[in-house]
Amino acid sequence: MASSALETCVFCSIVSGKIATPFVYEDDAVVAFADIRPIAPTHILVVPREHHETLAELVKTGTAGDLLGRLMKVAGELGAARAPKDGGYRVVVNNGAAAGQTVYHVHVHVLSGRHFAWPPG
Ligand code: AMP
Ligand code: ZN
Repeated sequence: MASSALETCVFCSIVSGKIATPFVYEDDAVVAFADIRPIAPTHILVVPREHHETLAELVKTGTAGDLLGRLMKVAGELGAARAPKDGGYRVVVNNGAAAGQTVYHVHVHVLSGRHFAWPPG
């Protein structure tokens, strides 16, 4: 990772420990932590340790399959572990400003604990 990303990217700062944030899950490639502005009773972010700005940028590397698989596996495990009795949870990746992305370090939202409308807003 470029040192500039560590200096300017909030999720790189969380991954490195520069911004102290308790992890609800971590391994050699992925960390997960509570969203600071939750929009559901459970709102966890699953984040790769590597800095990639967007899903689109990660896919362009041509080697994204393994990392995306690991992100989705962790998202599914956390969703299942924290879902209410009906087992419902939602997994979301916002790619780009038009889709609502605000932090440009790719991440997966895991949401549960309330009803989620479809189509999303
Ligand atoms: P997105 O809009 O998909 O880019 O999601 C970015 C998410 O990061 C938002 O839900 C923010 O509330 C969350 N967020 C921003 N800064 C922090 C932080 N320091 N710790 C935890 N979550 C954060
Ligand atoms: Zn980053």
